[in-house]
Amino acid sequence: MKRKLVFATNNAHKLEEISSILGDKVELLSLKDICCTTDIPETADTLEGNAMLKAEYIHEHYGLDCFADDTGLEVEALNGAPGVYSARYGGGEGHNSEANMQKLLQNMQGVNNRKAQFRTAICLIMDGKKHLFEGIVKGEITKEKRGNSGFGYDPIFMPEGYNKTFAEMGNETKNKISHRALAVEKLCRFLKA
Ligand code: IMP
Repeated sequence: MKRKLVFATNNAHKLEEISSILGDKVELLSLKDICCTTDIPETADTLEGNAMLKAEYIHEHYGLDCFADDTGLEVEALNGAPGVYSARYGGGEGHNSEANMQKLLQNMQGVNNRKAQFRTAICLIMDGKKHLFEGIVKGEITKEKRGNSGFGYDPIFMPEGYNKTFAEMGNETKNKISHRALAVEKLCRFLKA
């Protein structure tokens, strides 16, 4: 029998990506599939904490095995900012990528140390036990925006070993090497074991 597993998201792209890795052993359900319309609060001050809050919410309210993710861009010269606040760094309600990038580039003006990393934390609650998985991609913040694909901070993040930003390399390449792909790979390996 297929194992039912909720992914605490309604992001179709993320669902499809993970579903294709997991294959037909797992029946992956979205928040919509379980009729959860709550905007689950992400009030923790770490990525792991937010991933845990979301997974715990589903487990407590629906009694289902589930997992949740949270991602942040951590810039060394800014002591790890924007980090867990990446979505709303530029102010407002969040997910305003232009405002986020503008603020980051401004804060990095004249800064020589451009080292940064994307980090994804995934919290899985399965058979009542919690498991954490992490994916990291190291790189640097460019001095200006480059490229049109992807989302979020992609135009200003250049992964180590490449001379293209995430937004210049296109989704196919990015999704093979990304922080999320690495965290998801660990999750999938665990689920398949
Ligand atoms: P979330 O946890 O996946 O919702 O990500 C939080 C925020 O981090 C997003 O709103 C984006 O600003 C940023 N972010 C997450 N993943 C990526 C990525 O792959 N590229 C660029 N920005 C990202």
